[in-house]
Amino acid sequence: MGLLSAILNRQEPENDPLLDTLAELIRIFGRHGWPLDGVSAEELGNRCEAWAKHLLFKLPPPLPQAPEDGHLALTDLAQFFLSRRRSEQAYAQTVVGELRGALVEIVGQLKAGLVNQTQDDQQLRESLTSLLAAAESADPTELRAQVARTVQSVTARLESRIKNQRTQLDTLERRLGELESDLEAARTKGASDPLTGLYNRGAFDTELIRLFRRAERTHEPLSLVLIDLDHFKQINDNHGHQTGDRVLKSTADALVRNFPRKSDVLARYGGEEFVVILANTNLKDAARLAERFLVELKKEAFLVGQKALSLTASAGVAQRGGHENPEGLIARADKALYQAKNTGRDRVILAG
Ligand code: GH3
Ligand code: MG
Ligand code: MG
Repeated sequence: MGLLSAILNRQEPENDPLLDTLAELIRIFGRHGWPLDGVSAEELGNRCEAWAKHLLFKLPPPLPQAPEDGHLALTDLAQFFLSRRRSEQAYAQTVVGELRGALVEIVGQLKAGLVNQTQDDQQLRESLTSLLAAAESADPTELRAQVARTVQSVTARLESRIKNQRTQLDTLERRLGELESDLEAARTKGASDPLTGLYNRGAFDTELIRLFRRAERTHEPLSLVLIDLDHFKQINDNHGHQTGDRVLKSTADALVRNFPRKSDVLARYGGEEFVVILANTNLKDAARLAERFLVELKKEAFLVGQKALSLTASAGVAQRGGHENPEGLIARADKALYQAKNTGRDRVILAG
């Protein structure tokens, strides 16, 4: 308001180009003013326009009472701007004060949330302490600079945390994958018969119960084929235990070839006894498959030196009955197998 004082100090201010300039400045001020308590931006614009017109055309000033002597109300104009400036200062102080308060609270909470003693956290904590000090001091330039530094610190810390967590997740995921394959290997090892690679007796029991329950639910047929090699003892006696082992392994391989469905469960039931669980297979089809296997087994050339051994097997086949339990089914298949042995071997007998 240096311009205003210059005008005030002149004796004859009317028709002065300075007045035009002042009026223009007041208009500009009016257009860019912001609302304060009690005075809207529009109201301020109107008052400024009225002051400009008062200066330019001696129209009545925006006062409760117009000056009587016909002079310009320059003192009142100065008064108007002075009070406006005071209101703006008070407003700015209130707003900055509230901002400070919010800042102090946010910083306090951030600090309380940091518990890790990592270097990143240490840096962030220092930065927050400086921010707190700046927020409490009266220097807005320092406060602004410190806010920028803290934002940088917080961002860096968050990024590093995210990176750490990602690395930890990757490690966990890899470890889980390893555990899964370890578990799968252990399960397979625990479930298989070491000589033949087929399911062992324990795995067979588990699978039979599982498939039995499923058949009960779905009402699909379920059949069992029990196979026992004929006169196997003689192979051991005549050619040695190792040859006997080789024959058992070859028999298992022949079983795998003859029962290729993924759902067929092949197991070594005992010494030279094998068992096949056939899901969704009725007695007739199971018997047909058993017959085919016996034919194939007979064709198999078990070489001992230059000599080929011939091998036959007997089989008992049974289909799950309506109210039967797994033991009942095995017992009926076993009985049928016994009959096959007693009626000349090398045959399939269907359980009644
Ligand atoms: P059958 O036709 O009545 O079944 O006569 P078999 O000689 O096959 O039956 P038996 O029960 O008299 O003999 C089974 C033989 O199988 C006796 C046992 O030594 C042999 N055996 C059982 N397990 C193994 C094994 O893991 N390896 C070898 N090499 N022989 C085995
Ligand atoms: Mg036997
Ligand atoms: Mg036997």
